[in-house]
Amino acid sequence: MSLSNCPRCGKVYTPVPGGRELCQSCLQKEEEEYKKVFQFMTSRPSATAQEIAAETQVDLKDILRFVRENRLQLVKSDPSLKCENCGNSILVGKICANCRKKLGENLKKDIDKMKRDIHKTTENYSISRDKQSGNIVRRKKP
Ligand SMILES: [Zn+2]
Ligand SMILES: [Zn+2]
Repeated sequence: MSLSNCPRCGKVYTPVPGGRELCQSCLQKEEEEYKKVFQFMTSRPSATAQEIAAETQVDLKDILRFVRENRLQLVKSDPSLKCENCGNSILVGKICANCRKKLGENLKKDIDKMKRDIHKTTENYSISRDKQSGNIVRRKKP
């Protein structure tokens, strides 16, 4: 098994396949921090990430990571959490609802274009399944 450097403390550790990319002691610290943040949020559900950081002494970037990982949901929009696409403030995730919609539409357009292109290249052909071999065969239309 290969060794890695913990992205948080820099110590060499053995990564667990499929697990979090942190060393054992950082994982434990992170769990404690998460509990602290979580408890604070139950008493102040509308706190911003900055307020949580100030009150719990947990690093702001760790709090924002909890938010990104959807382990923590902030009620108030947080100015430090921004859409990667347009820069608007967002509550969770990486892009805002608007951009997600736009990206979805672009994807749909791409798929439609692909379908049209496929149609173009196949319009002089008929595609059918060969009964004997079971293969998809393309025959030029007469
Ligand atoms: Zn570590
Ligand atoms: Zn956006």
